[in-house]
Amino acid sequence: MINVTKTFLPPLEEYQKYLQQIWESNQIANGGKLWFELKEKLEKYLGSPNLILTANGTLPLQIALKVLAGNGEVITTPFSYVATTAAIVWENCTPVFVDIHPEFLTIDETKIEAAITEKTTAILATHVFGNPCNVEETDRIAKKHGLKVIYDAAHCFGVKYKDQSIFNYGDVSTCSFHATKIFHTGEGGAMFCKDPQLYEELFYRHNFGHKNATEFSGLGINAKMNELQAAMGLAVLPYVDSDITQRKVIYDFYKEAFIDTQLNMIKLRDGVKWNYSYFPVIFSHENELLKVQKALNKKEIFPRRYFYPSLNSLEYVQKKICLNSEDISSRILCLPLYGSLNIHQLEIITRSIEEILKQ
Ligand SMILES: *Cc1c(COP(=O)(O)O)cnc(C)c1O
Repeated sequence: MINVTKTFLPPLEEYQKYLQQIWESNQIANGGKLWFELKEKLEKYLGSPNLILTANGTLPLQIALKVLAGNGEVITTPFSYVATTAAIVWENCTPVFVDIHPEFLTIDETKIEAAITEKTTAILATHVFGNPCNVEETDRIAKKHGLKVIYDAAHCFGVKYKDQSIFNYGDVSTCSFHATKIFHTGEGGAMFCKDPQLYEELFYRHNFGHKNATEFSGLGINAKMNELQAAMGLAVLPYVDSDITQRKVIYDFYKEAFIDTQLNMIKLRDGVKWNYSYFPVIFSHENELLKVQKALNKKEIFPRRYFYPSLNSLEYVQKKICLNSEDISSRILCLPLYGSLNIHQLEIITRSIEEILKQ
């Protein structure tokens, strides 16, 4: 069976080595040795200081919204994973959808200003499949209107834009270290923030508001990453570079195979050093996608309709038409992409797709 992603598991002995340390320290939560080591190593690897490790990639979205968005309107993209919209609604903010660019697949920054009202407090946009939003223009608009910018950078581990970590953009960026993502801690995540004062506030919020054992600095919740998660992260991290290199080989294979077909691929923004996190293909019609999906499923290959459906169609949001997002969602399919896919498997996938396209 081939799924769209496959969790990378490090050699068991290497994970056990870290577990050994936990058994020795007898500390399994609350900022232990491994938690600290992972934070330091990630900050260095990513080139992004001020990282807060979290229990998953959804909590940092919630915390950032809680701190930065009040209960206001949040301008957001309909083309993302459901967590982006759900976090907004969960935090008692109102999502205001702005359609996406049909090729970059990120929020169409030229349509943001028209969606701003006096209730708007923040912009929450997703760097889709690791492809950055137009961060300069989004930043300019936000500054002009006094809005905060949060990036859902769940797909962006290792992505650089203009020679620096994509996590360094916006007021806060968040990442997911879920088992299906490039770098993972089983479940886990992080938030990144340049401003030291805001960093401190986010840090308090993710740990019940604790300033120390007896003093509190405002309201908080528990979003802490534990030592078992950190151990997994430390065991996985040394393999991330080679995983990305292998992903690139697979990406190039797919690209080459589809070069003479009418399939469309994502357009990467200039200046991005990408992480090959996903291989989405865009079909001419939903029917074609469904045929391909069926043919692959028969061979025990499970690509994923991602992102689908367009989030403006969720039952708990105010309906608003977003033509590009609805159209792309109906035609986009993420093909299997992970380091250990072999050529034989790739040939089965690409041939099955070519056959359907020729019909
Ligand atoms: C994975 C993902 C999330 C959620 O992260 P979790 O770690 O699963 O909570 C949020 N946004 C996007 C775009 C994602 O892909």
